[in-house]
Amino acid sequence: MNRLALLVVGAGPAGIFAALRSGLPPEQVLIVDEGREVEARLGARRFGLDVPGTIATGFGGAGLFSNGQLCLTHQIGSTIAHRFPAAEVNRRQHAIDAILHDGMDIGELRPIGPAAGIAATARRHGLSYLQYAVRQLDSDQLIRMTTRLRDRILHTARLSCETACVAIEPTGGGWLVRLEGKLNGVFEAANVVLAPGKAGAGWLRETGTALGLSREAAAPRLGVRLQGPAGFLSALLAGSGDPRLTWSVGDGVRVRLQNLSDGDVVPATSQGLIVVGGTSARAAGFERSSGTVMVTSGLCAADVRRIVAGVNDASRDGVLTQSLPEFLAGGGGLDEHYPARLTELLRRFVLRLANVCPEVLHPSTVVHGPAVEGLTDRFDVTDELEARGRPGLYLAGDGPGLTGGIIGAADSGWLAGASIARRSGRTAARPRTRRPVPGVRTGPAAAPARDAGRPSDGVTVVPPAG
Ligand SMILES: Cc1cc2nc3c(=O)[nH]c(=O)nc-3n(C[C@H](O)[C@H](O)[C@H](O)COP(=O)(O)OP(=O)(O)OC[C@H]3O[C@@H](n4cnc5c(N)ncnc54)[C@H](O)[C@@H]3O)c2cc1C
Repeated sequence: MNRLALLVVGAGPAGIFAALRSGLPPEQVLIVDEGREVEARLGARRFGLDVPGTIATGFGGAGLFSNGQLCLTHQIGSTIAHRFPAAEVNRRQHAIDAILHDGMDIGELRPIGPAAGIAATARRHGLSYLQYAVRQLDSDQLIRMTTRLRDRILHTARLSCETACVAIEPTGGGWLVRLEGKLNGVFEAANVVLAPGKAGAGWLRETGTALGLSREAAAPRLGVRLQGPAGFLSALLAGSGDPRLTWSVGDGVRVRLQNLSDGDVVPATSQGLIVVGGTSARAAGFERSSGTVMVTSGLCAADVRRIVAGVNDASRDGVLTQSLPEFLAGGGGLDEHYPARLTELLRRFVLRLANVCPEVLHPSTVVHGPAVEGLTDRFDVTDELEARGRPGLYLAGDGPGLTGGIIGAADSGWLAGASIARRSGRTAARPRTRRPVPGVRTGPAAAPARDAGRPSDGVTVVPPAG
């Protein structure tokens, strides 16, 4: 059996950047993903075989078919970024951003805009307005970017898609990894990066338990998706492409508006539950906009699962929709399922929000539920992303509950890769930037007509009933 220097499980942003950053000889690095290759994912979509698994899994990871928002900030998208000085995280994120759009002619990083007025209005009503730089990519740009990344990876590692990691165990000074699928057998590796994303979070929980890895229970957030006339939240977009508006209630409880998008709201599956997600139907134009309002619930994952399952059972397509006036009046609908304190906080937040964006109270505004985030346990890792007490075993990305977003996940993989490079006595790979060639298409596909927007919890979007 040939011993690998590095085996990466999961070819999402975390796994890809771990491999890129490790700087190891390509023949010593193997990346596996249980999902499909980029072309197969695109083909499935083009021919209408858009099974939910194709959206959330495969080379490029969960965000490949989104209308991607790359948020460059240490303030969101990572539960580990706060361990490092902000300037250090910013430097890493900009280096990642440079690799992501290397050689492509894509939009400028949308800078933080003038938002003093909106921030002051929010403050007057007890809300804080967070803005940061965002790069917004259309689906076709995201697909080209992913295709270029795949070309780059092929110079960095061996890649095997449709190959699942089913088991892992320690061996003398390394790890034995059992693979099933296109590549079968047991592989030995000095270092393993487990980056299976939310799709693999259940598997990781079981594997982590078997290996005795320590972790904190999930701290889920529960809320609703607020949907109103197109642009009803646009005042918030004056300062940032992905703003957040937060009400800190006290005792660690927060209510936050986030994930603003134009388009529809659809039922989506996440870890066996049906929750609300957003889609952007660019071809159809945007008649509606939406954003999620989430409460740090203080509930445990089992409670949130029970509540969500209750809503799923009580409605035809799994989600409940109420007019905003009905929701504000209380009683019925989501009030029959959510804890009273939670719906009360949601109502009070919406009324505060109406001071900043008065169109929220438009008669056509509705609330959809359930919206859920943070159902994933958070694994305990060192600053190098190594599982504590398990030399050579690294955890990265959304699967172990360390991040939530493309840049944050890539950053965690970067840290793991840099550690492996350092310990292997190699200089970690540095980004090489090529000159962008305007208008040159390197990716295979046109933009899908219907783009999956970012759902509330990295969920798999299922087609709406009918
Ligand atoms: C529809 C959608 C839209 C999104 N839009 C955005 C956005 O605009 N901006 C943003 O920042 N974030 C967005 N996100 C979230 C973002 O995609 C994730 O935060 C990010 O991809 C997490 O990266 P990751 O590498 O941790 O995991 P993932 O990207 O989920 O990749 C994990 C990979 O591991 C594979 N895998 C799982 N288990 C195994 C196993 N046992 N063996 C082998 N392979 C395995 C999976 O197939 C998957 O490809 C979106 C998510 C979705 C679903």
